[in-house]
Amino acid sequence: MLYFLLGILVVIGVQTILFVKYHKRRLKINIKHMMLSALFSIYSIFIIEFLHDRRIHMNYELLFVFLIFIPIGITMPLIYQRYKYFLFNIMYVVFIDIYILILQHSGMIKCNVLMIFFSVIGLFMGYFICICINRLFPKLRSSLILKKRRKKNIISSYEIEIITLCFVFLFSILATVQNVSGKNLNKKMKDTIHNLPDAENQVNDRYSHIYYADTDKYDRYDAYAAIHPEMAIEEIVWRVDANLDQDFYDEKYVKYADENTDSPLLLNKFSRVSDDFEPDELVTLEGDYIATPQTVAAYHKLTADMKDLGMKIYVCSSYRSVAYQDRLYRYYLKTDSVEEVDTYSSRPGYSEHHTGRAIDVSQVYNQLDAFEGSDEALWLYANAYRYGFIVRYKADQTDVTGYIFEPWHIVYVGEEISKTMHDENIETLEEYVVKYIDHQKP
Ligand SMILES: [Zn+2]
Repeated sequence: MLYFLLGILVVIGVQTILFVKYHKRRLKINIKHMMLSALFSIYSIFIIEFLHDRRIHMNYELLFVFLIFIPIGITMPLIYQRYKYFLFNIMYVVFIDIYILILQHSGMIKCNVLMIFFSVIGLFMGYFICICINRLFPKLRSSLILKKRRKKNIISSYEIEIITLCFVFLFSILATVQNVSGKNLNKKMKDTIHNLPDAENQVNDRYSHIYYADTDKYDRYDAYAAIHPEMAIEEIVWRVDANLDQDFYDEKYVKYADENTDSPLLLNKFSRVSDDFEPDELVTLEGDYIATPQTVAAYHKLTADMKDLGMKIYVCSSYRSVAYQDRLYRYYLKTDSVEEVDTYSSRPGYSEHHTGRAIDVSQVYNQLDAFEGSDEALWLYANAYRYGFIVRYKADQTDVTGYIFEPWHIVYVGEEISKTMHDENIETLEEYVVKYIDHQKP
């Protein structure tokens, strides 16, 4: 953000100086062109800062990369008067792509080759739109480009943009170098901004009052807070403690859950069981479905109360072995990509169904999709906690759980936990574990 503001200042500065310079010499200048060129430079800085701050790994984010590159395809030919010769446009995107690669190499962002592909496709799309605009409104373009000058010894019409672009890249590269090298470089640059040294001194105090803040994670809190300025510090801290600043299934952060108890509490995309894990005891839940005895007892109590209210739900899935989950996951991969499957199915070893405490239910047997919005679903949503169950994958928690909204998936956590979560407004097991299991509340 700092570099974004500095970049904008420089763009405005360069444009003003050139404007004055041309004006003094009474040369023919085109205000529209200069404004467009300034806007374009600011937009370029925005793209670079945007890519710099974000982790790109999801499908819809790739779509966004595609979209943000469209204006480049439109604007560049308008400004540079060179839409007939691709070269300059291509060079520009190559520059940005090289920059993205540098960022990836330095670990600043997680991107993939597809991202570069999408940026180029976006550019071509914009380019195509530009040609259409040009055909439809030929005057628009001629009003934007600079007229040829009669006098000699005048700086070429592209000089403005090229100088500005150089600054744009200079700033973005400085920003990267500084982030990578531990913020020690370019101190002078930093000192020009007020209050920054003060702000840095205060950083250590920002988290000390939060009992679940770990001192060795302060850097990660800072980094996550920079990406999520809208979040409260408390939320930043528990989210980072739950590794949500990392990619799901990242090997460096995945841990084996404690299997000494027969029911490891938290299984998610950072916490798994070993391949041969099996709960100590599994008993019949309904039909052929089995679950742990506590889960079965609580579930029968729950369904009995539902029956009194005239409602009935069926078990559609309960305990699954790691081997079974493996077959299921592979089966889904036949039709969907890994990214898609990961949003609705666990990888083997990571499924809550391994614990024997998770149950998928629906009021129509084996039709989970029919459950959402039904009377039974609404009742379960409001009352499951009374029986020690929680609805595990809520609609607005997909970035925490890593799964789409699954109103049918409940898990038995015991009444003490489910009631605390209900009373304290804790929406996910991830947050609960950070605040009540991994750290002792003072
Ligand atoms: Zn499930």
